[in-house]
Amino acid sequence: MKEQDLIQPFTPWQDTTRGGNIYGSGSSKYYRTGGWRVDTPQFEAARCVNCMRCFLLCPDGSIALEDGQVTGIHYDYCKGCGICSEVCNAGAIHMMSRQEESAHGSER
Ligand code: SF4
Ligand code: SF4
Repeated sequence: MKEQDLIQPFTPWQDTTRGGNIYGSGSSKYYRTGGWRVDTPQFEAARCVNCMRCFLLCPDGSIALEDGQVTGIHYDYCKGCGICSEVCNAGAIHMMSRQEESAHGSER
């Protein structure tokens, strides 16, 4: 990917590509979109049967894998859409609201 094909977080509008188009692949890793999240998926490893539905369907590639096993969520990138929770038939991912997180003292 050429440098001029990237739109950086603080690129002035005059320097962005025409129409804001993205011409290269793999640019999403430059944008930590986790800050957009309202609800946060909570992964419960003991319930996971490693079916990979969440991994296949997460639109942001935010399901963490290690040696072919789901190990958690990449919170820097997860936007909190809740798809992983919806598709998990094992009940291994549930969404937690910001209020619930505050009550539990989580700082994600
Ligand atoms: S969908 Fe649920 S059971 Fe399947 S890999 Fe993801 S967390 Fe594990
Ligand atoms: S909430 Fe959405 S973005 Fe976050 S891990 Fe689940 S499917 Fe991916």
